[in-house]
Amino acid sequence: MAAKVYKNLIGGEWVESRFGQTFENQNPANTKDIVGIFPKSNKDDVNQAVEVAATAFERWRLTPAPRRGEIIYRCAQILQERKEDYARDMTREMGKVLKETRGDVQEAIDTAFYMAGEGRRLDGHTVPSELPNKFAMAVRVPLGVVGMITPWNFPMAIPSWKIFPAIISGNTCVIKPAEDTPLSTLNLVRALMDAGLPPGVVNIVHGYGPEAGAPLLEHPDVRAISFTGSSEVGRIIGQAAARNFKPCSLEMGGKNAIIVLNDANVDLAIDGALWGGFGTTGQRCTAASRVIVEKGVYNQFADKFVSRAKAMKVGAGIDEQNDMGPQINQQQIETTQKYVEIGKSEGAKLLTGGNRITAGGLGEGFFWEPTVFGDAHGKMRVAQEEIFGPVISLIPTDSLEQAVEISNGVAYGLSSAVYTRDVNKAFKAMRDLQTGITYINAPTIGAEVHLPFGGTKATGNGHREGGIGAIDFYTQWKAIYVDYSDRLQRAQIDTGE
Ligand code: NAD
Repeated sequence: MAAKVYKNLIGGEWVESRFGQTFENQNPANTKDIVGIFPKSNKDDVNQAVEVAATAFERWRLTPAPRRGEIIYRCAQILQERKEDYARDMTREMGKVLKETRGDVQEAIDTAFYMAGEGRRLDGHTVPSELPNKFAMAVRVPLGVVGMITPWNFPMAIPSWKIFPAIISGNTCVIKPAEDTPLSTLNLVRALMDAGLPPGVVNIVHGYGPEAGAPLLEHPDVRAISFTGSSEVGRIIGQAAARNFKPCSLEMGGKNAIIVLNDANVDLAIDGALWGGFGTTGQRCTAASRVIVEKGVYNQFADKFVSRAKAMKVGAGIDEQNDMGPQINQQQIETTQKYVEIGKSEGAKLLTGGNRITAGGLGEGFFWEPTVFGDAHGKMRVAQEEIFGPVISLIPTDSLEQAVEISNGVAYGLSSAVYTRDVNKAFKAMRDLQTGITYINAPTIGAEVHLPFGGTKATGNGHREGGIGAIDFYTQWKAIYVDYSDRLQRAQIDTGE
């Protein structure tokens, strides 16, 4: 059967790339399965989408925010109805197991309901004026057209974190989804269009980063950029945005650690570390690729953890029997392979895994064994650099203080976790871990949409997604003074003395 052909969405119309070029979206569990053919867009397509979005902005910003919220609320209901179909599409293009892709769609649903409510809030503030008969307030106003560039690992949730807060605030947008997972973003936006979103408010331009993403950074009508992806690409994006004076939100890589103390519930910590490290095949920005274990429980933890890792069933995510799906593409497999070799050469002990899986009909996909290194130390490259694969390093430690130092001793600062039953230790860790998110007695993954999401150091540039932090990014403050005294009153001069 011929693969389905998909198009860009510009001004409410489904259109081909202007030069007619396309690319294939492959199933990472079986590369012979082509999920669809998508437009390979370039600067002309991006410019057209931005122009349409700029025109749509003039009407959308005047649409009352509660009306905008109703459309987003209807979108949430449509996503609920289509949840299973969209989860299956996502597993087919991205690889992660069905229970996780259902979670990814659910995250978009949660964000939609949350942001729909913002339509009746979007609060600013009023303060007293220093002059008599004068009213002072600060209101939120939208920015205009926002350019969005997203990664493949949460292909519906991450676009939803950007699109819903942007449009509830009155902005319009052009999104360039990851080239590995274009369908899930398209499904999200299709649900919005079916919910009654006016044409041009959200536009999709598919394609590769340098051709279809970079032009967003240069277009004068794009007023802000929201990017999620690697720190390497984030640096390029941030520099271009700065050159063009565009506000820019960067959500980037992670090297997250779970700390397990001697007093922890070790079995609970093992459950958490398996889910945190191997969930999404280790391809989460919040993945726990380091587990720092206090020496009193290290051997017990390592033995049980390795036998649980060995017992994991790896295979196509669409089969509900499987615990872990494939990696996204050949490049990610090669990165994982490279780091396994680096770990061995650095002297970390390979306790299980370390190989690509081709047996059992998995040869056409990008499958890798759940891999555990033992006796690692914090300065090894496998414990410093983001691998983005199913590779976990166990690091023995003497104390909480040392564990926190190891956890903090990386370039990134997204998520951290501590397993302990000692409330004093938990609070010290909550204070001292230099990450944007910290969990106690839960793994490093599992953020909820109404709390701020983002990290420190090379993970982010200070903005937050999720919760009210997202509204802060997609609006700017406008101060308004209303003088009803009927005379000239000069601030700082007519002080009444
Ligand atoms: P990536 O940086 O390779 O690509 C991200 C997006 O940027 C893609 O859409 C890509 O096409 C685009 N892009 C690439 N080069 C570009 C360029 N020169 N100009 C403009 N756009 C360009 O990242 P990825 O491989 O898709 O995703 C994995 C990375 O994302 C990991 O580092 C992970 O930690 C990170 N991530 C971070 C978060 C977070 O919130 N902190 C969430 C998910 C993923």
